Amino acid sequence: HDYSKEDIRKMVKEENVRFLRLMFTDVLGTLKNVEVPISQLDDLLDDKLMFDGSSIEGFVRIEESDMYLRPDLSTWMIFPWSSERGKIARVICGVYKTDGTPFEGDPRNNLIRVLDDMKKAGFTSFNIGPEPEFFLFKMDENGKPTLNLNDQGSYFDMAPLDLGGNCRRDIVLTLEEMGFDVEAAHHEVAPGQHEIDFKYADALNAADNIQTFKLVVKTIARKHGLYATFMPKPLSGINGSGMHLNMSLFHENGDAFYDENGELQLSEVAYNFMGGLIKHARSYTAICDPLVNSYKRLVPGYEAPVYVAWSGSNRSPLIRVPNARGLATRLELRSVDPTANPYLAIAAVLESGMDGLRNKIKAPKSIDRNIYRMNAEERKENDIVNLPDNLHNAVKDLAADKVLEDALGTKLFNSFITAKNIEYNSYRTQVSEWETNQYMDKY
Ligand code: ADP
Ligand code: MG
Ligand code: MG
Ligand code: MG
Ligand code: MG
Repeated sequence: HDYSKEDIRKMVKEENVRFLRLMFTDVLGTLKNVEVPISQLDDLLDDKLMFDGSSIEGFVRIEESDMYLRPDLSTWMIFPWSSERGKIARVICGVYKTDGTPFEGDPRNNLIRVLDDMKKAGFTSFNIGPEPEFFLFKMDENGKPTLNLNDQGSYFDMAPLDLGGNCRRDIVLTLEEMGFDVEAAHHEVAPGQHEIDFKYADALNAADNIQTFKLVVKTIARKHGLYATFMPKPLSGINGSGMHLNMSLFHENGDAFYDENGELQLSEVAYNFMGGLIKHARSYTAICDPLVNSYKRLVPGYEAPVYVAWSGSNRSPLIRVPNARGLATRLELRSVDPTANPYLAIAAVLESGMDGLRNKIKAPKSIDRNIYRMNAEERKENDIVNLPDNLHNAVKDLAADKVLEDALGTKLFNSFITAKNIEYNSYRTQVSEWETNQYMDKY
């Protein structure tokens, strides 16, 4: 929506909005809120609202901690749920420095920068259609998540209602009230696991939508007494949660990945973009799968990709080309999980693809066999490498890739890597239950 300041003042009056949530996302992908009473509206609209950025992960040094929040009025939205004391609206903000320039540590500002470069290269938009998955767990009496899935229980308890199904429908209805175009919502393979797909949008809106989506899912689940988690692999032994990213580049004549006469009706642009995605796959994995736990999803046997390859006909590789053509011609990247910072992940895959276009990187030949049935030698013959097998190795590959440094900008790149090294070291120095179970009485 193209809201003017006047439109917003009017909506605030008519709907009796009492609080404003000013949102932005930190380097780790966490949606941050500064909530202010409506009395601050004028300052917000005049770009005069300041906050202390020194406490935000990956943001600033103490000496330069004052930041401005500049609202992107097109993201204005009144939440359909309200508190007891009146309605709450949100607006997504860019973080600006005191000299008025965009703050480089803001992942959203960075995506805008990368998208500007793409436009200079002659494209009109980078479209992203995400397929986020999540689990619904029961909560205990203190409102803390348990590891009890709600719908496994209900089969055997013969509960009259499928709590998960009702909750999912409520989520979909709420999303629709908030302007989402929901294309599909379904139970996933694992018990307690769900997927909701909404229509693709240009990269910036898609990233905003993903952040809003996660907030809505968690909020509505709570109203149903359930706890929603986007953790990639909450339980071992069953499928984890991914967030496939469908992507395409549009130019003035439509979908630049489509070519009636190309091989598989894909264009040169599609093949070069894919060449870049394959070349940089190991380096952007840290960004697309950013947690220690993400790598427990990326293992054989659970529909998640493990090998760097593409196919137009089977779902096992990293990149799939779905059958649809015309304006739906797209590449589907299947490694991404929903804990990825969407602004960083989209910037990373776009810049990898653009590197493919700039340098005419050729996509390798497609792998249309089930890669999981190949042995190591056959994979070697076909030049198929593995995705990184843990966060440590993923970050190592990211740190060595100049194109990814350009994709994030040096400031975000360095703070992401520092934060992830700290996270991995903290994990690595823990002794897990698995270890004590395996070793304690054996040795
Ligand atoms: P799957 O077959 O992998 O389950 P879905 O049907 O669940 O795929 O999701 C497809 C996603 O792709 C949707 O979000 C849809 O809006 C999106 N999509 C369709 N066309 C394009 C396009 N040209 N560019 C990017 N995304 C697209
Ligand atoms: Mg799907
Ligand atoms: Mg589908
Ligand atoms: Mg799915
Ligand atoms: Mg998919």
